[in-house]
Amino acid sequence: MNTNGIPCVDTLRKTSSLLRKDVLEMIYDVKDGHPGPAYSAAEIITALYFGGVLNVRPDNPAWEYRDRFVLSKGHACPLLYAALMRRGFFSEKEKYSLRKINSRLQGHPDMVKTPGIDATTGPLGNGLAMGVGMAWALKHQKKKSRVFVLAGDGEMQEGIVWEALQVAAKYSLDNLYIFIDHNKRQSGGQVSEVSGILPLMEKFEAFRLWCREIDGHDFSEIFSALRDSEAEERPSVIICNTVKGKGIDYMEDDNSWHKRVPTEEEFLSGMRQLEETDQ
Ligand SMILES: [Mg+2]
Repeated sequence: MNTNGIPCVDTLRKTSSLLRKDVLEMIYDVKDGHPGPAYSAAEIITALYFGGVLNVRPDNPAWEYRDRFVLSKGHACPLLYAALMRRGFFSEKEKYSLRKINSRLQGHPDMVKTPGIDATTGPLGNGLAMGVGMAWALKHQKKKSRVFVLAGDGEMQEGIVWEALQVAAKYSLDNLYIFIDHNKRQSGGQVSEVSGILPLMEKFEAFRLWCREIDGHDFSEIFSALRDSEAEERPSVIICNTVKGKGIDYMEDDNSWHKRVPTEEEFLSGMRQLEETDQ
């Protein structure tokens, strides 16, 4: 991990609030989208894009030696669009084109349309498998680029995830870093009630992967896990305990916000709350 010039935690916290505000504005404007799953991942995305982790070039999104990022939980893409926009991959003017016909900011990430998107995702589980393929290919090509995947905990119910992880372990893909946004909820309710994915840590360890469980809203824990994982000669999985809807009181842990549009009153209240953490 590039440890040079990493902003302080206060600055990162403000950035994560800015991203959350962008997401709320985008979803309120188009009257469609997934705020809850975006908010649980805000600190992870902020750390990667603004914490000196991802080696990317906004002025050359297809740079051959860039690190790759795959948003396997593709429905959280307004958050990724906000990060890419604020890193300069495209202009703020595009913010309100989310989910519009022919726009570059579709309801799920599109690697053909959008600068900075490395994988087209949406079908759950597929993004993680694509990340494994990318990491394998990069190693085969003897490139030093790394691959970062952000997956939802609901995605762990997909068989393709475990097929891909077997490959990642077999080929010792130490250039692969998988974050699990463990917000305990999915579209259909509590993840543990929908299917028996737990215990996650023991499953990853049984697959011979390096695994650490952290608070996914704590920047220090995110960076510490990344630092420790760098010494490992195998794939890394970081289980991030998070809160769905984190950052706005009426959204937190209310699963109806998986996909829901705020009323005007809710929008103004949410923006006010995020403004306070943005100072
Ligand atoms: Mg979830």
